[in-house]
Amino acid sequence: MAGIFVGGQWRQAAQGGTRTIRCPADGTEVVTVPECTEQDAQAAVAAARRAFDTGPWPSTPAPERAALLRRLADTLAAEADEVARLESLDTGKRMVESQTDMADIEAVFRHFADLAGADAGRVVDTGMPSVASRVVHEPVGVCALITPWNFPLLQTSWKVAPALAAGNTFVLKPSELTPSTSIWLMQALADVGLPDGVANLVLGTGASVGAPPTTSPDVDLVSFTGGLSTGKRIMAAAADTVKRVALELGGKNPNVIFADADLDAAIDNALTAIFLDSGQVCSAGARLIVEESVHDQVVDQIAKVADGIRLGGPFSDTAQTGPLISEGHRDKVEAYVAAALEEGAVLRAGGTRPDDTEHPELADGFYYLPTVLDGCETGMQCVQEESFGPVLTVETFSGADRDKAEDAAVALANDTIYGLAGAVWTENAGRAERVAARLRHGTIWINDYHPYVPQAEWGGFKQSGIGRELGLAGLAEYRETKHVWHNTRPVRTGWFD
Ligand code: NAD
Repeated sequence: MAGIFVGGQWRQAAQGGTRTIRCPADGTEVVTVPECTEQDAQAAVAAARRAFDTGPWPSTPAPERAALLRRLADTLAAEADEVARLESLDTGKRMVESQTDMADIEAVFRHFADLAGADAGRVVDTGMPSVASRVVHEPVGVCALITPWNFPLLQTSWKVAPALAAGNTFVLKPSELTPSTSIWLMQALADVGLPDGVANLVLGTGASVGAPPTTSPDVDLVSFTGGLSTGKRIMAAAADTVKRVALELGGKNPNVIFADADLDAAIDNALTAIFLDSGQVCSAGARLIVEESVHDQVVDQIAKVADGIRLGGPFSDTAQTGPLISEGHRDKVEAYVAAALEEGAVLRAGGTRPDDTEHPELADGFYYLPTVLDGCETGMQCVQEESFGPVLTVETFSGADRDKAEDAAVALANDTIYGLAGAVWTENAGRAERVAARLRHGTIWINDYHPYVPQAEWGGFKQSGIGRELGLAGLAEYRETKHVWHNTRPVRTGWFD
């Protein structure tokens, strides 16, 4: 049986608990892993604390930290197909999507290797000859890294790579649904020479092993990716010990199509924006906001293609998208669609599970048909709340002239508590820039959807989060900045003589 990793040792959960992971595509058993309790979480925090306070990693020179991250990237490149297979078995997502994720993860480790020694600090000119004053960067300390199930190793790499690049130690708590690639990562880090205790892994639920590090006085930073309600709880839990908190939370992302867009490309990308990975993507384009004059053309075509999307498991040759992560999550998506229909949304595609008799091969998985809900308005719950499933809501806008059309589109797109990502489609470059500048979301795609690069900042406005995961700012989250004032000619002040 797989284990947890604490202080450089593989071990079982202290109280002997276990959990069996099953593939959401067909229910087959993947692996049995330890199910930890608070006791294991405390042991992992203690190991990370010891490694930070007395171990070599925080003072390891930046080029050596960078070299280790590059060796990890090399290992991943060499084992990419096997790691992608583990990821697909845990998540049910298509192998080709997991393989794309592996390439992204490798790029993330290389990006933070490049940044490890970046910005070595600066000398401050005080104008005083006897004073040497400088600003330096130091690791924050022990980091609790808590990740979700939708991009398990990718989300983990966005935290582990900068944490290590900056010289921190950490406790990783992946989603209880998708532990396999975190287990792989621990062994890979040990194999490329990471000192014992720097990387620690606990497995189990958020309540039993995620929560304890968020209140522990031995943890200095919590970096969390997941849902809004969990994020709020973690922020409150971390307040008592004033931890650094980085939050990457949900999104309800607008995808705005103007009538002057390249409609072929816009329609095709609107489908990818929402139905990739069955909508289980934080930046999914779940809100289509389309100009009235092209509404019918756009929505008819989207509904027609959505109806034909082929579902299937990770290794199907024909599947275009996969299952939902769990039965509970599918129940949630079903309830969300039922509530939307009650609110007056018009079903244009999907709205149900696939038919078992027509598709017996899908009967044991948690599948849900790609769904299009037309006739939505911003006040509706289905427009405001994240379904995190394959459900597209459609809102319509119009305006008597250029500016009024833009005002109407922007007002809809910004009418949300979230602010993670969004897109605007138009062939008018001026309009594209005007609208992009007004959208209150952390990433804006113009005539595109979904691409990201680790060199650019990623993070949410409003209730989509706090802090940035990638780019230069991604590393800054994991460093303290210190001003060192060195008086080379100390004298008595004589103040109270
Ligand atoms: P979730 O909030 O249920 O769980 C995320 C992680 O937090 C899991 O490891 C879970 O065990 C843990 N957790 C739960 N309660 C906890 C607690 N009280 N203390 C500490 N840890 C706790 O989210 P999920 O269902 O795994 O993931 C889906 C959500 O993640 C969606 O809302 C999605 O938008 C969001 N997400 C955001 C981004 C981003 O970049 N902003 C990326 C991916 C996913």
